[in-house]
Amino acid sequence: MDLSDNLIKLNGVGDSIAKKFASLNVLSVEDLLTYYPRKYNDFSNVVAVNKTKPGFITLKAKISNVHTRRTRHGFSITEAICSDKTGSIYLVWFNQPYRGGSIKEDAEYYISGDFGLHRQRMSMINPSTELVSSFPINTARIVPVYKETKGLSSLQIRKCVKQALSYLKLINESLPEWLLKSYDLIPVIQAIETMHFPASNDELLKAKHRIGFEEVFDLSLAALLNKNELLSEKAISIKFNQKLAKEFVSSLPFKLTDEQKSVAWRILQDIEKDTPMNRLLEGDVGTGKTVVATMAAFMTLKDQLQVALMAPTELLARQHADSIHEILKPFGLDNKVSLLIGSQSAKQKNLVIERLKSGDIGFIIGTHSLIQEKVGLKKLGLIVIDEQHRFGVKQRQNLMLKAGHMPHMLSMTATPIPRSLQLTLYGDLDVSIIKNKPYTRLSIKTKIVSLNQRTELYKSLISTIENKKQIFVVCPLITESSTLSFRSAEKVYAELKKGVFKKYNVELLHSKLKTEDKEKIMKDFAAHKIDVLVATTIIEVGVNIPNASVMVIESAERFGLAQVHQLRGRVGRSDEQGYCYLLLDDNNQPSSRLKALETTDDGFKLAELDLKLRGPGVIYGLMQHGHNELDLKVAQLTDQELISKAREAASEFIDRQENLLQYVQLNNRVERIRSVTNLN
Ligand code: ADP
Ligand code: MG
Repeated sequence: MDLSDNLIKLNGVGDSIAKKFASLNVLSVEDLLTYYPRKYNDFSNVVAVNKTKPGFITLKAKISNVHTRRTRHGFSITEAICSDKTGSIYLVWFNQPYRGGSIKEDAEYYISGDFGLHRQRMSMINPSTELVSSFPINTARIVPVYKETKGLSSLQIRKCVKQALSYLKLINESLPEWLLKSYDLIPVIQAIETMHFPASNDELLKAKHRIGFEEVFDLSLAALLNKNELLSEKAISIKFNQKLAKEFVSSLPFKLTDEQKSVAWRILQDIEKDTPMNRLLEGDVGTGKTVVATMAAFMTLKDQLQVALMAPTELLARQHADSIHEILKPFGLDNKVSLLIGSQSAKQKNLVIERLKSGDIGFIIGTHSLIQEKVGLKKLGLIVIDEQHRFGVKQRQNLMLKAGHMPHMLSMTATPIPRSLQLTLYGDLDVSIIKNKPYTRLSIKTKIVSLNQRTELYKSLISTIENKKQIFVVCPLITESSTLSFRSAEKVYAELKKGVFKKYNVELLHSKLKTEDKEKIMKDFAAHKIDVLVATTIIEVGVNIPNASVMVIESAERFGLAQVHQLRGRVGRSDEQGYCYLLLDDNNQPSSRLKALETTDDGFKLAELDLKLRGPGVIYGLMQHGHNELDLKVAQLTDQELISKAREAASEFIDRQENLLQYVQLNNRVERIRSVTNLN
């Protein structure tokens, strides 16, 4: 008997059930024990027959007069009468003919289910029944409801979980004794059993708290260990020359905002230390992060060290290269800056790589092409990662390895990260935030458009085009999908091109196109050879087309709020008013979350709201490449108290100089988390 036993070892689990479980990612007994319910139905209140009211109820009664008949359509209906001392009511089951055979007329049952009107008669419909003498798992208690799959119901899952409980004794306590005591946590075995079969709501809360606490504790501990490890590394100190910094600031064609200045100063102080900086710079699109990063790069170049900036797309890399050239020109450093991207010719690339090796290039800007094996960066002092959530840890690591020593790391993101997530997931990073844009732009007017308002919308879009403005149309999918009903870019493109916009230039842009084609389309759009660009979220990051004034988002309910917010940041990039239209696929009322986009222009608020309404998945989705090591199954990121307590416990664990290897399970989990979060 072992926790890693295949589910097949459980009674009543055969190949076919095991397969269904596998489709839910439940393979071992341990997986099953930690496959926590999605919700619970409270059937714990047992009532007498004469006290029944419509709704979910539980009775303790005998069952008699069971009989099954077939309807003309081939269905079966099983009916019975159940009685206690106070009276009798009808039970009805549809298509469950086996019900009849298993019921013993003289035994007492718990009967739980929905009590309501069926064919003019009050009955319990499809109730669950269990012998009072058994350990009931479907009735007369708080009943767990699991995420199901076709052919595997909660009823069956409950049965399997009940079997698996016999393995609980094999689970070792994963947290130290002192920690359980001082943070008032129940033992893990008790918590797991209670998660499935709670005796009361109070107990359930305690179990959820214990399991959730541990989840956040693991993440926090991993983050702290990452941080400590980094702090023990040596980095090359980059001299903070105040005079040069002032020259840099005064050479700019604009005045830096106070926020930009204080963040830049902070970064310059960081990189002057001989421990590696690991800082995340957060700021909405257009808050001017690039110039801040360039200031740090400038100081690095002046100290005869190299800088590498990695961006997720060629488009962004090009944009950065252009603006950084401009910024560094007054210092004669622009010829030290070069681009390295996949679409360059082999000859071009080789030349850049040679010049990098010789030190002729000091500042290299590129995409993933920077981590090719041929690229050498021997004097690398600073790495800047733009849109850091687009890169996995491995990619960032690979870039660092080029240096042969630990460079300073500045990551940037336009995704607002709610504080709770930042504390748990990014606990090892120092974070700086730029909240305000350098100058007040007109805020983008956002409007929800239902299906029957489309004609009117298209009319106004035609005048937009006639006024020589351009339009983005963003769709959630490239191609029509048989399972998802969302509007695809290909379909919308075909419709618009043949329909309302047939007189104009409509183009289609998505990630499956060849790089050259993508580049050409973006160039043509920038040159206003295209009026309407239908695209997927590929245009999400960094595109700067000031003449595009309208953003249309198809199947808007499908997107996360923070994501829509980023998308609409693509328009209104000039003095003209920008518009964003959120299209619904029907005429139903829009959700309140979507409505928030009409009234709020604060990316952080929207991210918090998404976190609350749709859970961390949406925000994780934006930030991570589906690392399920980082998933929280039970902890609520909105539970500030839990998060701060769990973080405190993780610090205490380290302060006490606990030996992690002593706690096998904890160590395994922390190592798994670190494998996808640790940059070292
Ligand atoms: P982000 O990367 O944060 O989205 P950028 O760095 O691309 O933003 O800056 C957006 C635009 O604002 C750029 O054209 C940049 O030159 C300009 N900009 C940056 N800082 C300032 C400032 N303090 N005043 C005026 N314009 C600025
Ligand atoms: Mg940017």
